[in-house]
Amino acid sequence: MKTVKVSVVTPDGPVRETDATMIIAAAESGEIGILPGHISTVAPLRIAPLRIISGDKEEVIAVHGGFIEVRPDVVTILAQIAETADGIDIDRAKAAAKRAEEALRAKQDDDVDRAIHELALKRADNRINVHQMGQ
Ligand code: ATP
Repeated sequence: MKTVKVSVVTPDGPVRETDATMIIAAAESGEIGILPGHISTVAPLRIAPLRIISGDKEEVIAVHGGFIEVRPDVVTILAQIAETADGIDIDRAKAAAKRAEEALRAKQDDDVDRAIHELALKRADNRINVHQMGQ
């Protein structure tokens, strides 16, 4: 079974290092599937789950933006923030989603504030999805 090394790294240190038979990442340009031997490339990522498949096992990481660097034998995900499914505090994520939704419902004239709350909601939704996918 051919594999590719995958590591998810943040400024706080490595979040996950493993071998995969396939990686599915949400690039800004769309979803990309990476198999061992993929040509080298770099792409910006969306706030979305990263799926790491190894044989019949799959794990999911909440990646909140950043970049994916693909080389034929190693894939590196560089993100400001990322969590494994079992590293997610689901109550905290639900509370963050609720706070962001309430702030977005309140009248806001400030586009910057709105963008901040929209991003917070995206991160919280990403965490909630990844937690569910990891069950
Ligand atoms: P909150 O409002 O709950 O702090 P946030 O989206 O503002 O959420 P971030 O700025 O994205 O938080 O992350 C700050 C740090 O807290 C990061 O290290 C991130 O991994 C961690 N973190 C945030 N929310 C959670 C969560 N629900 N479970 C585990 N770690 C979390």
